[in-house]
Amino acid sequence: MRELVLVDFDDTLVETAPSFHEAREALFQRLEAEGFSRKAVRRVHHQEVEPELLALFGMGPFRMEPSFLDTYLRLCRDQGRTPDHGVAEECATLGRDFMGHPRVMPGSLEALDRLAAVTPTILYSQASHPLYQLARMRDAGVTRIIPPDRIRITPLKTAAAFLATLDHFGVRNPGDSTMIGNSLRSDINPALTAGARAILVEPYEMWHYDNVPPVSLDFLRFSTFPEAVDHLLADGGEAETARR
Ligand SMILES: [Mg+2]
Repeated sequence: MRELVLVDFDDTLVETAPSFHEAREALFQRLEAEGFSRKAVRRVHHQEVEPELLALFGMGPFRMEPSFLDTYLRLCRDQGRTPDHGVAEECATLGRDFMGHPRVMPGSLEALDRLAAVTPTILYSQASHPLYQLARMRDAGVTRIIPPDRIRITPLKTAAAFLATLDHFGVRNPGDSTMIGNSLRSDINPALTAGARAILVEPYEMWHYDNVPPVSLDFLRFSTFPEAVDHLLADGGEAETARR
């Protein structure tokens, strides 16, 4: 069995993107009810506000409240309207209260348990607030399978961060490791660039931000994490994944 398997958290083991999507949809509908067109709302939110706030706050839920509030305020400014305090507060609230309890994907924890029982496995996640992210992992039940000292949370999943993680866990040859995750940008490309193996899981349509061209086509794809684990644990899976 390989030396180390690195498993992503958000949208690999738990549903995260759908919560973000639902919160945005609620914001867009609220702003449409205020008389702003869907086209104007999408343009201001997607093209102006989100890029700026991602740069300021990084990944994670904490940008959503300022992002939602700012989208409303900029729309008002663009159209010469005076912002309404109540509407502004409603928008901010939609961005503040949407995360809730992590929604574990069916079979994902059982699959993680099966994997960790037979091969060195760590959780490798990207978040700008590591303590908050660790609390979400604990809420999801992940830390009962992978203890916190086997969890690595980095602000940005670059190839350098990937290599530093391998180094931290004593892996000398990146080719002995396998990254499993849902993002071409954050999981597949950094792993391939570092010389590791990679398995993409696509439980639902990838967020446009994550869906960048792969640096090579030398990775496997499965619909879900449990299917990826089935493959890794099956006889012959090793040989097929090693096809490089
Ligand atoms: Mg992810």
